[in-house]
Amino acid sequence: MFVDRDIFLEGIAASPGIAIGKVFLLEEEDFCFIRKEIPKSFREAERKRFDDAIEKTRSEFTVTYNKINDVLGENYAHIADVHILILDDPTLKKDVYKLIADGVNAEYALFKVLDKIIRSFENINGSFFKERKVDIQDVGKKILANLFGKKGKKLARLDEESIIIANNLTPADTVSVRGKKIAGFATDIGGKTSHTAIIAQGLAIPAVVGLKNISSLVKAGETIIIDGDKGEVVLNPSSKTLLHYKNKYDLQLSRTVELEKLKNLTSETTDNHKIFIFANIDHSDEVPLILNKGAVGIGLYRTETIYFNRDSIPNEQEHFDTYSKVVQQISPYAITIRTFDLGGDKLTKMGLLNLGFESNPFLGLRSTRLCLKYPEIFISQLRAILRVSVLGKVKLMYPMISGLAEVRAVNAILDKVKEDLKKENIKFDENMEVGVMIEVPSAVAVIDSIAKEVDFVSIGTNDLIQYTLAVDRINENVAYLYDPMHPAILRFIKRIIDEGHKAGIKVAMCGEMAGETKYTSVILGMGLDEFSVSPSQIAPIKKIVRSMSFVDCKAMAEKVLKLEDSKLILKEIDLFYETRGINA
Ligand code: PEP
Ligand code: MG
Repeated sequence: MFVDRDIFLEGIAASPGIAIGKVFLLEEEDFCFIRKEIPKSFREAERKRFDDAIEKTRSEFTVTYNKINDVLGENYAHIADVHILILDDPTLKKDVYKLIADGVNAEYALFKVLDKIIRSFENINGSFFKERKVDIQDVGKKILANLFGKKGKKLARLDEESIIIANNLTPADTVSVRGKKIAGFATDIGGKTSHTAIIAQGLAIPAVVGLKNISSLVKAGETIIIDGDKGEVVLNPSSKTLLHYKNKYDLQLSRTVELEKLKNLTSETTDNHKIFIFANIDHSDEVPLILNKGAVGIGLYRTETIYFNRDSIPNEQEHFDTYSKVVQQISPYAITIRTFDLGGDKLTKMGLLNLGFESNPFLGLRSTRLCLKYPEIFISQLRAILRVSVLGKVKLMYPMISGLAEVRAVNAILDKVKEDLKKENIKFDENMEVGVMIEVPSAVAVIDSIAKEVDFVSIGTNDLIQYTLAVDRINENVAYLYDPMHPAILRFIKRIIDEGHKAGIKVAMCGEMAGETKYTSVILGMGLDEFSVSPSQIAPIKKIVRSMSFVDCKAMAEKVLKLEDSKLILKEIDLFYETRGINA
C-alpha cells in the first residue's frame, strides 16, 4: 500500500504565494539519445536527414557570424567561425555516415561520434581543450535540435498548468513563460534577488530557488507544493498537508481581495507624510496590471528584456514601438526607463552578448560598461527614449554607475544624441530628467558629487548588497550572508538619502528591499521619497505605510542606525511592529 509522506525541502523564497500543481520537469538538453534500428531501405533518407540538419545548422551559424561581424568585427566573429569549422570537419561527417550506413538513426550516430571526440579531450589538460569541448557540445546541440526539428527550449511544449522544476531558469527562460500555464517554479540554484526571481515576482508566479537538488528528486507529473512565502517546497504531500496548503491558498486569495480595497488610497503615514509607490516592470504588458494594483507610476522599467529570446539586436524603431506603448498606457503618471542592464546573469542569445567566457560576469562587462563599449547599440536605445519623451512624463536612468566619470561619459553620448535629433528636427523633451542607480559601493562613496550632476537617484539594493557584502546575488551557497539589514547597508542607504536631499534631488529605491514590508518602517524613517516595487508588493507596502506614523519611523531608524548587529536591528524592527499590532 502507498503511504503518503511529506518531504519538505528548504530553499530561498523568491516570489511570494502558494502554488499546488503537477511537476513539469525541465531537463537539461544533453546528449542522451535512444538508438533505433533503421531498415536498409530508409538509410539513404536518414543520411539525407542528417545532411539537411547540417545545412540548416550551417546557415544559422553563418547568420550569427555575419551579425557579430557587422557589430563587433572579425575578432568576435571567430566564435561563430570555430563552430562552422567543427561542423565542416570531414571526419565528423564520415564517421556519422558510417554508423548510419550500419543501420543506426542519425541522432544516435551523431551522439556516438561526438562522445568519442569529447572523451578524447577529457584526458588533456588546458583551457584550450576544455573550451573546444564546449564548442563541440554546442555544435552537437544545434545539429540535434535541427534533427529533431525542434526550435527553442522545451518550455515551449508546456500546455497544461504546471509547476516548473529545473536546475536553473535563466531570466530569458523566465520571460518566455509569459502567457503560459505556470502555477509556480522551483530551481536547484539561484538567490532571492537573482533576475530570474525578480521576473517571477513581476509575473506573480510563486517561486522557490536555491533548493540544490530538487531537479533530481522529482518526477514529471507528481503533485508538488510551492510555498513562495516561506521558501519551502513539499514533495509527495500527504492529504493533510494538501488540505493545509489549500486553506493557505484560499487565505491568500481573500487577502488579495482585501488589499485591492487600498487601490485608490494615497500612500501616506498616519501623520500625513506622503511617499510615492511606483512599480518595477520588465515587460510592456505589465502596465494594466500595475495600474490595477494602484501604482502611481513606473520607477524602474528594466528594458533589457527587449533583448531576450532573439538573435538580433533590436533597432531604434523596435525600442520606440515598445516604449511608446508603455509610456502611453502609464501616462499621465511618470515612467523611469532604465537603459539596458545586460551582462551579469542577464545574458542573451545574441552573439554580441556571448559573454560566457567571463569568469566574474557580475564584475565584468555589464550594464553601462557594455553601453560605453558598444555605443552604437546604446545610441539606438537613447534615441528611442528621447523620441518617446514627448508622449508622456519620461525619465531616463543609467544602471550600475560606479563614479562620476561614468555619469559624464554616458551624458556626453546623450548630449550628442540630442544634438543629432535636433538636426533631424525630431522632437524630444529637452527637460527630461536624467538619473542614476546607486548600486555600486564606490558610487555611495562619491554620492555627494554624483548627486550634484543628476536629477534623481534610485538605490538598487539588489546589487548594492551584492557588491558591498561581496555576496553573489544568485549563489544559494552564500545566500545566508545576503543581509539587507547589515549595518553597512543601512548606513549606505542613509548616506545616499541625506546627500541626495542636500543636493535638492529625490531619492528612490527600486531594489527588492523596497518591496519588503519588514523593512518599510526603517527606510521610510530614513527619509526615502519613492519606493519602486514589484507589482505584487504595491498594496502590501501601501498598507504598512498607512498604518504607522512618520515620527515613529524616524525615531526607529535613528535607533537602528546606531546598532552594530543586524540581528539586533531585526529584533528592534519586530518590536516596533509588534507594539503597534502590525503584521509585517
Ligand atoms: C538592483 O540592483 O537593485 C536593481 C533594481 O537592478 P537589477 O535588479 O535589475 O540589477
Ligand atoms: Mg541592479
